[in-house]
Amino acid sequence: GASGHYLLCCQQPDAWIDWFMTAASDSQRVFDYLQSPQTSSKSPHRLDLEDSDIPFKVYVFKQERGDLVVLPPRGYHQRSFKGTTASFYWSRLTIEGLRYAVFYDFYKRQRLCLPAVHPVKQLAYDILCSRFAELETSETGLTRTTAVEMRQLLEVVDEILRVEAYTNEEDIPNFGNTAIAPSCAFCGGEVFQKIFSCKNRCLKDKTVGSTPMDVVSICPSCYVDGRTCLCGEMTPFRLRPISPMVTSRDKIAAIFLAALLLCSARAMNSVRTNQSFSHCIEHPFQGAVRTCSTRKGQQRSHQTHCYALLNCKNCHASKCYEHILSTLNIHSAQAILVYYTTDSPSEAWHKHHVDLRQDYSKSYPRLLSNMLSGNHHPLNHRLAYFAHHFSTADPINKNTLRGFYDEGEIAVRQFSSLCPL
Ligand SMILES: [Zn+2]
Ligand SMILES: [Zn+2]
Ligand SMILES: [Zn+2]
Ligand SMILES: [Zn+2]
Ligand SMILES: [Zn+2]
Ligand SMILES: [Zn+2]
Ligand SMILES: [Zn+2]
Repeated sequence: GASGHYLLCCQQPDAWIDWFMTAASDSQRVFDYLQSPQTSSKSPHRLDLEDSDIPFKVYVFKQERGDLVVLPPRGYHQRSFKGTTASFYWSRLTIEGLRYAVFYDFYKRQRLCLPAVHPVKQLAYDILCSRFAELETSETGLTRTTAVEMRQLLEVVDEILRVEAYTNEEDIPNFGNTAIAPSCAFCGGEVFQKIFSCKNRCLKDKTVGSTPMDVVSICPSCYVDGRTCLCGEMTPFRLRPISPMVTSRDKIAAIFLAALLLCSARAMNSVRTNQSFSHCIEHPFQGAVRTCSTRKGQQRSHQTHCYALLNCKNCHASKCYEHILSTLNIHSAQAILVYYTTDSPSEAWHKHHVDLRQDYSKSYPRLLSNMLSGNHHPLNHRLAYFAHHFSTADPINKNTLRGFYDEGEIAVRQFSSLCPL
């Protein structure tokens, strides 16, 4: 979401840098092209400019001393150095860039296991609070621009808190003090408030970790994608209490949104009662083998583990999360939320998957345009989009197991508890 600035300060005589850039709107096409088998066999992460069938425009610029190159936040770029040069580099994150980073880039990086560059969730929360403090003491009062920015920031912070919220916060233990903020063992992403940790300190070759650093901890987004430690028995921990953050957010929202009538002051209480998706999979992953009745390759049906599928009594069929996504366009987070937060899971799930049959495909054009502008779009559709488009994953920590949407087969977790279904 940040925009890179490169200033070439000095160079040897006859030295320069060649820049190759693509438009932000082409980023999906660039990714697909680099991932395609013909391309990746030659140069997995670089464009081969000799290749005449590159399906998008590549902009070329020769940078010499004094030239400043400003990269668009989501464009692809590569450089080629001719001789010795020295540059200054810095990056700027605008509110628009921050919104893109939280709403879209976070999930893309999480799917692809690209470690976080900036702690964007923390930044969003800090910027909201510091902007508010500045405005409280400002003499000039509120301008229309600041008001719009505050609303945009609130939208970002609301999503962060909503994803991390937990109904009974007191029920989850503290993660404990760590000198460095933990990152996700699977994707390397930023962990803001909640993290899932292995109960058994499991490691490869059935050894048990002896220090807290050995414990595999996974971010809520990876956990709902089915990514776990080797044993799969993970419990949620909180890094800090969320209530004070919610209280500050409510105070800011009440003052701003009500005073300006930009929109009605939605209290965060609705968020608290709203079940957050990561809360809902505290139901431990279990190990019994079940059949998913969706065709896979040559097979009419296939075997999977009961934690990886849902049963619908009305349809007389079970479907694994991978097929729930590929045939119904529903992400596991949404499916699990619907299924496990009701007394009649099968009926609720059936109604949901029938009612929302067209939901994703209808909103797809809007999703693409929102993604381009960094605007908010319903989370369920964003999760479905990223799970569907990014299935290659190379976990940071190898003491982990792939999730429902990663390449390869789902591995069996070794559970100590019995299957309740
Ligand atoms: Zn993760
Ligand atoms: Zn484990
Ligand atoms: Zn639950
Ligand atoms: Zn299946
Ligand atoms: Zn059904
Ligand atoms: Zn697609
Ligand atoms: Zn089960």
